[in-house]
Amino acid sequence: MVKDQLIFERGEAGRRCATFPDPGYCDTPIPEQFRRKTPPALPEVSELELVRHYIALSRMNFSIDTEFYPLGSCTMKYNPKVHERAARAPEIAGLHPFSPASQGALKVIWEMEQVLVAVSGMDGFTFQPAAGAQGEFVGISLIAAYHRARKNEKKVVLIPDSAHGTNPATAAMCGYTVEAVKSTDRGTVDVDDLRSRMSSEVAALMLTNPNTFGIFEDEILEVAEIVHDGGGLLYYDGANLNAFLGQCRPGDMGFDVVHINLHKTFTTPHGGGGPGSGPVGVKASLLPYLPAPVVEKSGDGFRLNFDLEESIGKISTFYGNFGMVLRAFVYAKMLGAEGMRKTSEIAVLNANYLAARLDPYYERPKAAQPMHEMVYSASRQKKEFGVNALDIAKRLIDYGHHPPTIYFPLPNVAPEAMLIEPTETESLEQLDEFVAAMIKISKEAEQDPDVLHDAPHDTPVRRLDEATAARKPVLRWKPGQS
Ligand SMILES: *Cc1c(COP(=O)(O)O)cnc(C)c1O
Repeated sequence: MVKDQLIFERGEAGRRCATFPDPGYCDTPIPEQFRRKTPPALPEVSELELVRHYIALSRMNFSIDTEFYPLGSCTMKYNPKVHERAARAPEIAGLHPFSPASQGALKVIWEMEQVLVAVSGMDGFTFQPAAGAQGEFVGISLIAAYHRARKNEKKVVLIPDSAHGTNPATAAMCGYTVEAVKSTDRGTVDVDDLRSRMSSEVAALMLTNPNTFGIFEDEILEVAEIVHDGGGLLYYDGANLNAFLGQCRPGDMGFDVVHINLHKTFTTPHGGGGPGSGPVGVKASLLPYLPAPVVEKSGDGFRLNFDLEESIGKISTFYGNFGMVLRAFVYAKMLGAEGMRKTSEIAVLNANYLAARLDPYYERPKAAQPMHEMVYSASRQKKEFGVNALDIAKRLIDYGHHPPTIYFPLPNVAPEAMLIEPTETESLEQLDEFVAAMIKISKEAEQDPDVLHDAPHDTPVRRLDEATAARKPVLRWKPGQS
C-alpha cells in the first residue's frame, strides 16, 4: 500500500521538475578519480509528481494540525502559525550570532527570561538546553556544582516512582544513585516514605507538579521543607507547567531549579526529534553556576557574558535554539498574564470534562481530582475481555484520533496506563468526538474484542515493531526500497 502511494517510485529517466542554469564558473573539471562512475539513483519526476509525493507522505501521518492529539505529559497543543512567520522572517532566520544585528535577538532572549522569571518565581534562566531532557542534565549539573562548592558530600537523587524516565536517567548520568519515593493511593508523593529516605547524602528531589498522574502535589510545601531541612535541593520538571501557568509558581513552592519545555507549554513545534528548547531557571544561590554565556543588559544594549568563573561550562553552540525562544516569546506576548491564566484554566477544565465523561467507562486508578491530564487503566478490559491499552490506542487511530500516551506511568504504579491530555486548544465538539470514540471502543471491547486486537484497520501500515521503528527509522527514500 505504501509503495502505491510513493510517487517517487514512478517517474522516468530524464523527467525533470527543474532546470539548472550553467553555473559558468566551473572551468576546472572535477579530477577523474573523484568523479562517480555511475549517476546517482535520484527520483526523476515532474513538479506535480514531486508535490503529490510529499503531500501523500504528509497524509500518512498524524499531526496536531490534522487530528486531535491527546498525548499525555507532552502537551500537544496547537502551534499558532504567527510564530512561524516571526521565526522565518529573513532578518531572523538569516541572522548570524556574531553579527552586530544580533542585539535584537539578545533583547528577545533577555525579555523572554523576564517572562519565565515572572511565570516560575526563579531568579534567572539559561536558554541553552535544547530539550527538557537536556535541561534536566543542566539542572542536576547545577545542583552538583552547588554542592561541590560547599563541599557537601552527596550521592543520592530521590525521584517519585511515577516520574518520567528522563528523571532517573539524568540523575544517573550526573553520577548519582537514584532512589524511588513511593506514591500514595491518591497519586501524590508519600511524605512518610520521603521522610524515611531523606539523609545528608541526598543531593536533590526531582519532582513534576502536577505529577504524571495529572494530580497536584498538594503537600509540596511540606515536601520542600523535608528536603531543604535535610540539606537537599528541589528540582522541578516543568513538563506539566501548562496545568498552573499564571496561577501559581514553582519558585513559591520551594523549588530551587526548574526546566520549562517551551515546545510543550509555550507552543513551539514538537516531535520528530526537535528542535526543542528546555530553558533552565534557578534561584539566586545557583546563578553563578549557569552555563556560559548568559545574556546581560549592558548600557542601552545587551551582551553575552562568557566571564563566569563558576559556570558549569557551555552546553550548546551559540545560545541554544533561538527560533524556539522567539516563537515562545511571541506566544507569551500575545497571551499576556491574563491569557496565561486562562490557558491553564481551560486546559484543566477540558481534562476534567473528559474525566467526567469517561469515568463511567474506564477505570482511573488514582481517583484524586486531576488537573490538565489523567491516567486511565485498561486493566478491567484486559481482565474481562483480553483487550489491553495498546489495542484501545490502536483502535482510536481508526476513529481519527491520535492515541494518548500508553504504558506511562509505568506498570508498577499504573498497569495498562492511558495518559490523556486534551489541552486548552480543543473545542467542546472535538472533546465530544473523542469521548464518543472511547465509549464505542469500550463497547467493542465487550462485544467484538478482535476488532480491537486487529486495529488499526485503515492505516498505510498496521502494527509496527515499535522499538525497531523508533530505533531504526527509515527516513530516506532509496530507489526500490519503499
Ligand atoms: C516531556 C517530558 C520530559 C522530557 O522533555 P523533552 O523536552 O521531551 O526532552 C521530562 N519529564 C516529563 C514529565 C515530560 O513529560
